[in-house]
Amino acid sequence: MDRQRLSRRRFLAFAGAAAVSVVGTSNLSGTRIATTASASSDAIERRTAVPGISRAGPTTPGQPLEIVASIPRVYQGGAVRLDVPHATHGTAQLLGRSYPLVSTTPEAAGYVGVDVGDPPGLTTVSVDVTASAGNTVRLERTLEILKTNWTVAHIWIPQELDNDDRAAEASDNGIDGIDENELLKSAYNGNSYRRWEEPWIVPIPGVPVSSYFGEQRSYNGGPISGHHTGTDLAAPVSTPILATNHGTVVLAQQLPIRGKMLVLDHGTGVYSGYAHLSEYEAVPGEFVERGQVIGRVGNTGLSTGPHLHWELTTSGIRVDGLRWLDGTQGF
Ligand SMILES: [Zn+2]
Repeated sequence: MDRQRLSRRRFLAFAGAAAVSVVGTSNLSGTRIATTASASSDAIERRTAVPGISRAGPTTPGQPLEIVASIPRVYQGGAVRLDVPHATHGTAQLLGRSYPLVSTTPEAAGYVGVDVGDPPGLTTVSVDVTASAGNTVRLERTLEILKTNWTVAHIWIPQELDNDDRAAEASDNGIDGIDENELLKSAYNGNSYRRWEEPWIVPIPGVPVSSYFGEQRSYNGGPISGHHTGTDLAAPVSTPILATNHGTVVLAQQLPIRGKMLVLDHGTGVYSGYAHLSEYEAVPGEFVERGQVIGRVGNTGLSTGPHLHWELTTSGIRVDGLRWLDGTQGF
């Protein structure tokens, strides 16, 4: 942690720390060196209550509403859980995007995603909530967005294979295949009733990560570009894939790039996607429980080997599934 951040931490009088670093390398022959996200032991900063600014005043005497953020500093590609005790429901706004807050008794709560391209620095999150007393209140608080050091894959390939490989990699990044992107944009767009319950679980436990969320790529020493839209988990064909949380299957369809793709709606704008499957184990419209087998690992679509490409979105913003699960975001 650098001095500047330390002094800012002291200035804000936050307890604990939130130091998460993601480092990544590859060697020059193109073989990835597995790296991992690391989190300091004090990374979780739960319930650091910073009083919100209540423009409408307290709802009941002695009980002002406030926004409680699961962490005060959130990385690009990360997410923060906002809770407003004594409120029933509402909406959060961050950088012009809306996120629903739903009743989690006795609070209104929801997940606010930070996009890979959101600018680092201090920003304001606001919420409009309905208090238990029935009145509507606007609250604000400051969040700090931290720069993520994205992993970079340096890929060295013979010139004759260059074009094919670029196409495949670009596709995995979701930067071509416009129809597929539009279809997924639609599938990941909604705000249905809450099905999720914490904790969230990894869809395939105990297997290596072969490509991190947000990873960028450079070909033959060329410019670094793109961001990987999910997390790749390497596993043999037919390995069972588990639902990361309770949800309803809203898509189970063969796509040109992601192959056999399944999408779960967890409610309140949160979705998970599972790509390159060999088989589906659930059908559209079906409610599945957290941990239920929903499909099996495959190599369908544009894929260079059996793996699960796993995506997570909140109100249409793709976020890092591993950060979502590892506790460093305070939920
Ligand atoms: Zn992938």
